[in-house]
Amino acid sequence: MIHANNPALRSWVDVPPGSDFPIQNLPFGVVRRNGGSPRLAVAIGGHVADLKILAEHGFFDDLKIDREVFAKPYLNDFIALGKAKTSAVRNRLSQILDSDFEEWDASELAPFFLFPQSEVETLMPLQVGDYTDFYSSLEHASNVGAMFRDPQNPLLPNWRHLPVAYHGRASSIVVSGTPVRRPKGQMLPTGAEQPIFGPSIRMDFELEVAFVVGKPTELGQSVPVHEAEDYIFGLVLFNDWSARDIQQWEYQPLGPFLGKNFASTISPWVVTLEALEPLRVQGPAQSPQVLPYLQYEGARNFDLHLEVWIQPEQAEPMRVCRSNFKYMYWNMAQQLAHHTVNGCNLRVGDMCASGTISGPTPDSYGSMLELTWRGTKPLTMPDGSTRAFLHDGDIVILRGWGERNGVRIGFGEATGKLLPAL
Ligand code: CA
Repeated sequence: MIHANNPALRSWVDVPPGSDFPIQNLPFGVVRRNGGSPRLAVAIGGHVADLKILAEHGFFDDLKIDREVFAKPYLNDFIALGKAKTSAVRNRLSQILDSDFEEWDASELAPFFLFPQSEVETLMPLQVGDYTDFYSSLEHASNVGAMFRDPQNPLLPNWRHLPVAYHGRASSIVVSGTPVRRPKGQMLPTGAEQPIFGPSIRMDFELEVAFVVGKPTELGQSVPVHEAEDYIFGLVLFNDWSARDIQQWEYQPLGPFLGKNFASTISPWVVTLEALEPLRVQGPAQSPQVLPYLQYEGARNFDLHLEVWIQPEQAEPMRVCRSNFKYMYWNMAQQLAHHTVNGCNLRVGDMCASGTISGPTPDSYGSMLELTWRGTKPLTMPDGSTRAFLHDGDIVILRGWGERNGVRIGFGEATGKLLPAL
């Protein structure tokens, strides 16, 4: 077992019950305090540990890491150090924050490097060069196929043979808390023969998890499926906001464009693949057998409980979806192997999202499109209002965590408020 994952570890920092951030997690992010300069940090309980300050005090000097890496406004340079170094930093932090560690009294230094999360601003943690969105949930692809094509035969012929994806837009990926503007565009009203232009009236979320590429590949290089996880640094929650009416009119034959690229929201803390190790589970059986370059061994799925909540303006939030990352038909190793099989190169900080993660039951569907079955079964909110799709002022909240041996490894939240169209 990785020492930093040991369930027996306890921190001298208070970690409230149910916190996503015990000492066994230590996810990385970028924060700013009192308008100061951005710097790298990890979350611990309700606090953050400032890595720039720890680096300045020499806590990482023996790891031979340039201190400047911790003073960057993004994680890319840190991640690019490679897993040997980033794991060593996580292990060091685990020691510093461990109540049993006696080499120095880090708690005396606490006022200098430990700050309540409420006092810091969590910033977009990555420079995302490229973003790819997969379509890897069998349940989601089946639901959408049943709705728009053929209920008896919902999957297209390629779906069980390759992890379908499209290239998304990296520039509009924003960190949790950033408001999202309802987009305007072309759409074809039901029964109409000519398109109209205006604000989308079918605004949706998509519950997804994205992985962050941690190791670059050369142009022309293909990553074998059994090595693919070496290229994954960690995961974030991902809301692929979708304007269904714009999407439906534009998507053929080349796929999503303006119905998707106006915004995607991520959670601010990147949870390392190492911290998620205890949550590994077997994925679903794949039938028919996939081609050799996609055949994998071992447990490549992760048991991560996922939720979506909607909070209308001036009302209590309501949970609308409970799903799980373990349902994914295609796992991340297969996605990365497929992405590079033609020689397409990856860069550190690239993001690959899973696609909407729907489960087998109607309360586990990961989008409004499915939850309301194309708007035909509206949800009733606690304030009595109904939702076929999202209303202006709604806050969409994604949450995710897994639990093993009494240790909860979580992501915090990916939230965004939908603002009216301009
Ligand atoms: Ca998507």
